[in-house]
Parts: sequence; C-alpha cells; structure tokens
Amino acid sequence: MIAVTTLRNRNVALFGLGGSGIATAQALVEGGANVTAWDDNPDSVAKAAAAGIPTADLRQVDWSGISSFVLSPGVPLTHPKPHWSVDLARAAGVEIVGDVELFVRERRAHAPDCPFIAITGTNGKSTTTALIAHILKASGRDTQLGGNIGTAVLTLDPPKAGRFYVVECSSYQIDLSPTIDPTAGILLNLTPDHLDRHGTMQHYADIKERLVAGSDTAVVAVDDSFTALIADRIERSGTKVVRVSRRRPLADGFYAEGGHIRFAHGGTSRPVADLSEIQTLRGGHNAQNAAAAIAACLAVGVGEEEIRKGLASFPGLKHRMQPVGRKGGVVFVNDSKATNADAAAPALSSYDRIYWIAGGLPKEGGIASLSGFFPRIAKAYLIGEAAAAFAVTLGEQVPYEISGTLERAVAHAAADAAGDANGPVAVLLSPACASFDQYKNFEVRGDAFVGHVAAVAGVEMLIETNG
Ligand code: ADP
Repeated sequence: MIAVTTLRNRNVALFGLGGSGIATAQALVEGGANVTAWDDNPDSVAKAAAAGIPTADLRQVDWSGISSFVLSPGVPLTHPKPHWSVDLARAAGVEIVGDVELFVRERRAHAPDCPFIAITGTNGKSTTTALIAHILKASGRDTQLGGNIGTAVLTLDPPKAGRFYVVECSSYQIDLSPTIDPTAGILLNLTPDHLDRHGTMQHYADIKERLVAGSDTAVVAVDDSFTALIADRIERSGTKVVRVSRRRPLADGFYAEGGHIRFAHGGTSRPVADLSEIQTLRGGHNAQNAAAAIAACLAVGVGEEEIRKGLASFPGLKHRMQPVGRKGGVVFVNDSKATNADAAAPALSSYDRIYWIAGGLPKEGGIASLSGFFPRIAKAYLIGEAAAAFAVTLGEQVPYEISGTLERAVAHAAADAAGDANGPVAVLLSPACASFDQYKNFEVRGDAFVGHVAAVAGVEMLIETNG
C-alpha cells in the first residue's frame, strides 16, 4: 500500500466507497490523515466502517475545516450533474482530487525520479498498459501496474528509486488529477464515448489532453483529428512530443508499415520492431498500441532489444483477442470483451477467414455496421437472445446456424473449421453483445469459452487453464 503522507494531520472528506474508495481511504488513514468517508449506499458505508475507516454523512460535517475532498472516479464530477458531495466541496472552496492525484503527489514527495508511465485514450488503454508493464517486467525492472486496469493505484508498492509505475487512467481519473505529471504520458485515440459523463466531445478531449500536457515526454497517436491537434498544441507550449501513427508514415516519430513499427527522424527511417509474427498484437489497432508502448519505453530508458523481446513474449490480455488454443491450422480466439459491434470490429478485421461466434444480450444497432467484414466469415454461430435478430442481418450473405449455447457453438465451429481446406482460420468468440442473458459478465463468458475450447479433441491450449 502507498500510505498518503502528503495529507498527514489534515481533515480529508472522501466520497465513494467502492473497491478503490476503500483502498484510498485506508491509504489516507495509514498516512495519518483524519478521514471522514461516506457513500450513498449504506452497505458500502457499513463495509468501510467494519474496515476501520471513520464514516459520517458529509451533509452533516463542517466543511470549513476540511482541506481536501477525495472523490471516487465513478461519481459524477460534472455530468450529467455534479454529485451533491461535489456541490458541498465546491461551495466550501475545498480542492477535489482522486486517487491518482494522491499517488502523483506521493511520488513527487518521495521519489520524483522514479519512472511513471500513464496511459489514456478511448480504446486500447488496458492493452497498452499491460504491454508496457510486460516489457518492463520481462527486462527485469521493478514494475508496478495499476489504475483503471483494475488494481487501485494506492494499493501498489510505494515509490522508490528504480521502481517503474505503469498506470492506466480513465478520463474521470485525469479529471480528478490536476497535477498529473508522468515521465511519459500516452494518448492513444479520442472518439465519442462516455459523453453522458463529460458533456461535449471538446470537454472530453480537454480532460485527456491534460495527461499528455503534464508529461515530460508526451506520446500521442495522431490518427484522429482531436489527438493530432492536441499534439501540435502541447508541442507549441513546450512539451516534448513523440508522435506515433498506425495509418501513415511520419516524418518524425513511430509508425506502422507492412507489419513493422518504424522510426523516422532527420529524413531517414528504420524498422524498430516486427509485429507480423506476434499473435497477441494482430491488427492495426494493436500496431497503434505497440508503437505507443515502444515510444514510452524508450522515453523511460528501456533498450530497443529489451523492447523487442518483451513485445514478442506479450501474452495478451484475457478476453481481448486472446489466442487461447490451436489445432492444426485453426486458432481459437477469445474476444469476449467485445460487447458491442464497434468493439468486435478490430477482431473481425484481424483474421482473413473466420468461424464467428456472436450473440448474447443485443445492443442497439445490432451487427449491421459490421457488414464490411461479412466476406471474411466462413460461418456464424449465433447464441443468446440476439441470435434471431443477428440471423436476419446475416441473411443470405453469411452462412449461419443458431447454436443457442456457447458450448454447442464452439463444438460445431471447431468441427467445421477443422475441415476447412482454406486455412489458416480462426474460431473467434467476438460476440458484439453483452453477456448478461447467459453469463454474469464478459469475463465469465470468456472463461466458459476457454473451457469449451479445452474440451475440443486434439486441441493444444496456448494459455494455462485450471484443470
Ligand atoms: P480500454 O482499456 O481502453 O477499454 P482495451 O485495451 O481493453 O481498451 O481494448 C478493448 C477493445 O478495444 C479491444 O478488444 C479492441 O477491440 C479495441 N481496441 C484495442 N486497442 C485499440 C486501439 N488502439 N484503437 C481502437 N480500438 C482498440
């Protein structure tokens, strides 16, 4: 745990006692702050109290004596409207911060030179964060991985010289971290998302810009109009910017071309890494993630050879285009995280011939937007509530069966794929649907897929399974 010492002996109010909220409160208590914590859910308050965290209704406290208000990133700061606790803090003129801000202050106070890589963007954050942490770990560096990816940042080991931090930041976390100052900050892309919580696209972009604007080295993927403008603007104001692109050669920066990441500078360019044989980094979107990871690792002093080794051994993230098994020319791929059509597109674009398992609880718009990929689909295996509607969309264009369950879908797809003379082929679970009709969440659905793949006769598993 990282004890928050920068607020020692101060009165600190905290709202939001979910998983990271409790960890944050404990880190504050441990560091000597006088914490008063609250949540709208009485069960969460009871849980916090049982964990030894002082609790009280923040409507009843004297805000004039409070020096900082710590808000959980899940609680609305601005949109659709500020939470009542935010109104109280603002009325009292109390600063509003989140756990990432507490972490960056702690790092500045105790180990300002320890390398800190922060990652944001609309898509690809977790993949890029995990990839960077993997490269660092594989090279033998003391590596701490956390933030939005799942491990609350204050539960990591404390900053000290030589320790590397890789922290995924959602826009909510950046919004609550006014002085975020990574050694290398990455902005991957910006597309409309979560606008319900941010109001306008411009406001969303402004928040994300802060992460790179505060960086010693800003790594910006300039493949969309917002990020390209941000790179230019922060460079003009003096930030060191490294540009990366998945789409086009750059005169200066890292870009994807022909399966390689190349580096251009001073009128010449050279290959830095070959991604073409790395199963876990397939597709143009992963070229963007890899290029950004390379640039950030170089910025914190990792050698090119170390980076290449780490890239080649990246195991991938669970449930995101994860190759889990192989049988002859058939690879079985778990992309259970693709819970809508947009999220399924990268996987469908990454394989030439696909036995596609799709369906679940349908999302608005269905799979019509994926029709450009239909020629790659040898056959579709439809499951869950969406099956009938998806069948209508596939219509005459794609052969399909209504498998109903994932178990049947895997068995049938495996049998059909094994007899495909046009290999190599993929049996791909990329459902373009939520999982809740048949599973607790996408993770459980992905694990079920892995279990069914492991039951296919003669399959060689590419990941460890429990039994
Ligand atoms: P995040 O953490 O930002 O939600 P993930 O790394 O978990 O992103 O990836 C989620 C999904 O988003 C992946 O399965 C893939 O379909 C897609 N994706 C990953 N990287 C990118 C990228 N750079 N650009 C666009 N889409 C991406």
